[in-house]
Amino acid sequence: MNQQFSAIQRHGGPVEEYPNLYIGGSWVAPQDGGMIESIDPATGAVWARVAYGGKADVDRAVAAAREAFEGEWSRIAPHERAAMLRKFADLYAAKVEDLAQLETRDSGRALRETRADIGMHAQYYHWFASLADKHDGRSIPMGDAVHVFTSRLPVGVVGMICPWNVPLMSACWKLGPALAAGCTVVLKPAEQTPVTALALARLFEEAGFPAGVVNVVPGYGRGGAGEALAEHEGVDKIAFTGEGETARAILRTGAQSLKKYTFELGGKSPHILFADADVEQALNAATNSAWTLCGQSCALGSRVMVQRPIYDQVVEAFAARAAKVRVGLPLDPATHMGPQSSAEQMEKTLRYVQIGREEGAELVAGGNRLDAGALSNGYFVEPTVFAGARNDMRIAREEIFGPVAALIPFDDEEEAVALANDTAYGLTAGLWTRDVGRAHRVSARIRAGIVWVNTYRYIRWTTPYGGFKASGWGRENGVEAMDAYLDTRTTVISTTGKFPDAYAD
Ligand code: NAD
Repeated sequence: MNQQFSAIQRHGGPVEEYPNLYIGGSWVAPQDGGMIESIDPATGAVWARVAYGGKADVDRAVAAAREAFEGEWSRIAPHERAAMLRKFADLYAAKVEDLAQLETRDSGRALRETRADIGMHAQYYHWFASLADKHDGRSIPMGDAVHVFTSRLPVGVVGMICPWNVPLMSACWKLGPALAAGCTVVLKPAEQTPVTALALARLFEEAGFPAGVVNVVPGYGRGGAGEALAEHEGVDKIAFTGEGETARAILRTGAQSLKKYTFELGGKSPHILFADADVEQALNAATNSAWTLCGQSCALGSRVMVQRPIYDQVVEAFAARAAKVRVGLPLDPATHMGPQSSAEQMEKTLRYVQIGREEGAELVAGGNRLDAGALSNGYFVEPTVFAGARNDMRIAREEIFGPVAALIPFDDEEEAVALANDTAYGLTAGLWTRDVGRAHRVSARIRAGIVWVNTYRYIRWTTPYGGFKASGWGRENGVEAMDAYLDTRTTVISTTGKFPDAYAD
């Protein structure tokens, strides 16, 4: 990897410069963009200046992706695509530490989390490489002197629009299946976290991907490169991760072009603790799933529903564990929880703390900004716990995207299911019980794309991931992910070549 992407290991230091976009296999200056200043959320200071593109740059990138799709890339056999993806995966694996530090710097996520998360991505890419030559069609028996068969074809040029909370993960879940399917790509990272996408481009270049197969154009969403991708007639599909409102805007923008879409959107996941659970294990999962990523995860178990006999015990333990979370500089490997990704995100979280109080929930831990000593200019918030929450409160209905757990009591299984499903979202859910019958009964009734029983956030390359209801369209990961990047063609061949004259009599 180029020197400019090498490990940083500390906050502060000179501002890094990333002056180019990656289009058509070249590093080029933006035509109608400029420079984004990327803020280190731990210090509030600019740590990198990154080129961003506009409409003209998206036009160039889409043209390069189209040329590659119809040209060199289309002539490469699936097993050769797989080999390139494996080579890329190996290069990626060798750069985990650099990538983790870049992502921590850009997003503020604690290094111990980015290392663990990014450490798994090579396995995702290997998994998708293994699927590159498996999307075979079917032969359909008709017996009418016709031979009918289906073929699965790449959808074409894919515009990928990613969020700031998990930049490399969201890119990985899209790039893997898209490239395995034979698509070409224009990737637009979030304006807050543009650096790691450029590091990815460097690795694709090193792995020998033909020019134009992967293009990276950092840029803004509304009115910028994101909107330009969404409305572009030359883009066959948009793969998006982000907020529901943005997905709706993308749909409106793209309506004229009738693209295909996959949407990975938000969540307000129920995490249900029955009284018969192994409470210590359930607490390990429930506290971690409320505060991981500093609360900025779509899969957060932020509605912690607790059966009444263990409610007080769980409230007390949650508050005690909040006090044990080491909030600190995210590049410090000892830090459990870093800052919120932006000042805006921190203010939003603190606003919701105020809303929770006004709604009558009891703040039993956290709720404040942390700004002493080395944290003074960063966007740090304490892990926060509300007891006495109700499912109709805004802190239980709206995605806060901060480290705020709302503990909601319930009486029985029926009420637990009703509360769990009483939400606009349907991304993930968790439940803890030692009763195997209850595990099956309750998990079967929860309207969510993934339900975890006696575990939480088990997400791997093999496990389909995506939402019901307002949490999205389509699935990422698993063999199902390939469906999002493939179209089916049916071919019907007459074995006789005869066609009756409909107007003979
Ligand atoms: P966002 O919707 O604000 O932005 C996401 C991306 O969309 C950014 O790249 C942005 O530039 C772009 N964008 C914004 N407006 C646009 C427009 N009008 N046209 C085209 N592009 C536009 O989301 P965010 O705040 O970056 O991310 C947080 C959200 O992502 C949360 O709601 C979270 O739950 C969700 N998320 C979901 C998953 C999942 O897998 N379901 C994973 C991670 C994050």
